[in-house]
Amino acid sequence: MLEFHNVSFAYPALDENTQVSPAVQNLSFNIAQGEFVAMLGHNGSGKSTVAKLCNGLLAPDSGQVLLNGLDTSIEDNLFDIRRQIGMVFQNPDNQIIAAIVEDDVAFGPENLCVPPAEIRTRVDDALAQVGMSDFATAEPHKLSGGQKQRVAIAGVLAMQTQMIVLDESTAMLDPRGRQEVMDTVIQLHRQGKTVLLITHFMEEAMQADRVLVMHNGSLIAQGSPREVFAQRDVLLQAGLTLPAAARFAQAAGLGDDILTEDECVNAILTKYTNH
Ligand code: ADP
Ligand code: MG
Repeated sequence: MLEFHNVSFAYPALDENTQVSPAVQNLSFNIAQGEFVAMLGHNGSGKSTVAKLCNGLLAPDSGQVLLNGLDTSIEDNLFDIRRQIGMVFQNPDNQIIAAIVEDDVAFGPENLCVPPAEIRTRVDDALAQVGMSDFATAEPHKLSGGQKQRVAIAGVLAMQTQMIVLDESTAMLDPRGRQEVMDTVIQLHRQGKTVLLITHFMEEAMQADRVLVMHNGSLIAQGSPREVFAQRDVLLQAGLTLPAAARFAQAAGLGDDILTEDECVNAILTKYTNH
């Protein structure tokens, strides 16, 4: 569904004497329809640049980005591209425009010139999908961070895009808000959406089908979460730490292959209940 072919992109230099190193360098990867992919990487590794290259907010300096075969660097494709891919960003307060939740969710489909009767249905369905139906007429500023992000996700759902990109959309939330958003994302994936989840939380990346690890604008590892998290030196190089359960298990000598809390508990029980 999404193809990056040798993509490089550098932001313009502040002046002629400054040399800029590209934010993204020779990057190639594909995401298939229906896949749930997580992208990990420390600050400045190029993740948000990738997000903006996905829907043509930025165009590559070289290489190609294709969404369902549509080249994002061709201006005439952008309307079609944005009907197929939706974005949720980090700060919930920057994404909600309207004074009432349901008007905000309607904003996307209105821009796509969807007929009013259908907008009504889409808004109701989208709010139901993110568990926010009871807040349809609420004022967004009175919602929690997690609720606001779910409204932002509903806005994308109302556009009925096949793919959704979340750029650190849980980073500003408390643990409960993070969980609400993650539950929603997992639910959407089950219903067939293609998901690119950009995060620096390893526990979130664990839930994906596949993990891509960014470092200095390039991919330094990719594979199933288990394959990627087994490459501990690569993670260290990328400035990432293992999930807390894995670090604990390692420190307690329970094994190097433990990643989740459940696995950790099982290892402890196995080790200590037979004595
Ligand atoms: P991440 O999302 O992983 O933190 P970014 O894609 O935001 O990484 O940034 C990648 C690189 O591009 C960094 O070196 C960053 O400083 C630079 N960069 C990001 N946005 C801009 C911008 N608008 N102008 C100039 N440089 C930028
Ligand atoms: Mg970022």
